[in-house]
Amino acid sequence: MASNRSRTAGRHFLQIPGPSPIPDRVLRAMDMPIIDHRGPEFGKLARRVLDGVKTIFKTTNPVIIYPSSGTGAWEAALVNTLSPGDHVLMYETGQFGTLWKKMAEKLGLVPIFIETDWRSGADPKAIEAKLREDKEKKIKAVAVLHNETSTGCVSHPAEVRKAIDAAGHPALLLVDTISSLASIDYRHDEWGVDVTVGGAQKGLMLPPGVSFNAVSDKALVASKSSALPKSFWGWEEMIAMNKTNYFPYTPATNILYGLAEAIDMLHEEGLENVFSRHDRLAEATRRAVRSWGLEILCKDPKYYSSTITAILLPEGHNADQFRTAALENFDIAYGAGLGKIAGKVFRIGHLGDTNDGTIIGALALTEMALGVAGIPHKKGGVQAAMDYIGEESKKRAN
Ligand SMILES: *Cc1c(COP(=O)(O)O)cnc(C)c1O
Repeated sequence: MASNRSRTAGRHFLQIPGPSPIPDRVLRAMDMPIIDHRGPEFGKLARRVLDGVKTIFKTTNPVIIYPSSGTGAWEAALVNTLSPGDHVLMYETGQFGTLWKKMAEKLGLVPIFIETDWRSGADPKAIEAKLREDKEKKIKAVAVLHNETSTGCVSHPAEVRKAIDAAGHPALLLVDTISSLASIDYRHDEWGVDVTVGGAQKGLMLPPGVSFNAVSDKALVASKSSALPKSFWGWEEMIAMNKTNYFPYTPATNILYGLAEAIDMLHEEGLENVFSRHDRLAEATRRAVRSWGLEILCKDPKYYSSTITAILLPEGHNADQFRTAALENFDIAYGAGLGKIAGKVFRIGHLGDTNDGTIIGALALTEMALGVAGIPHKKGGVQAAMDYIGEESKKRAN
């Protein structure tokens, strides 16, 4: 490819909150000749991933795997459970919450949108209050994001479920875990979630190209009477074909090889260890940010995300110019500010195949880039992150 930049040596620091870096083992697992997706070898692969992925969502019910990006699985969650004109209680936690709401509108649903300043997660009390007001039970679903990737704020699905139950409301609970699955603790069955939406390219360490719907019995019942049009996204045919180890149309065969490998890797490390690694890298990042004297966008620790930290630049400094300077000088890519916080924040992703060394490297490049770009800050952020990670290692060793 023609480029007027000279070759950059070594590893590119891809610190966007997804797609995240792909482990070599996953790349090698996908490096396979294509096979017949109606043949016996594929049947074995399909069984392996269809069963394996349930252990990641923590469900014993079917998980549907689509050959699409996460946005497709968002649509699938809505069109399989709802009917035109149904009210859906949604939360404006940030840009992704807003996009899901816009999708609901385009599909002919009526979103009821709880607004926020994009600096916290969904408040279960606000959800409970809206459901109590809904005497006629027009709200058919509550949709929240486990992790709002544009702001770095989580919501707590188990608390949202409790709020729905406390209001005595029959609404379904739909949860987007696209940037939290396999990174932050998640339990589809135990938390009473009806549809969980997942994606490949964030915590699951895969290339973009597959997405998921985990479904509850209640969601399956709702799908029988749901009247929104659906064909490609329809659960019924998928679930029926998956029982025979096949798919109704061509699956993303080679990504499924990668998925089987990624599931094995997650269990080899242990999901609990995967989650605590993400917690540690996130806390190290936040300590660096505070030491620099910069502000974390998410303002309440109750909502801190373990997969992405969004950082506000001081007034008068453009975050996109900072990102460009960091990329040109140090070959590091951050997530951009999206929607109404465009140009105001940059986002450090610390998810997927990321370790202590990666994050310390990324934070060191960031501290240097702040200097190069002339962003007012204090030194010592990397040291604070190192001190924290060092202390945590000592604790683990004892
Ligand atoms: C990335 C993301 C999406 C969109 O997924 P695509 O794979 O880009 O279609 C939706 N929701 C959240 C929370 C995300 O992080």
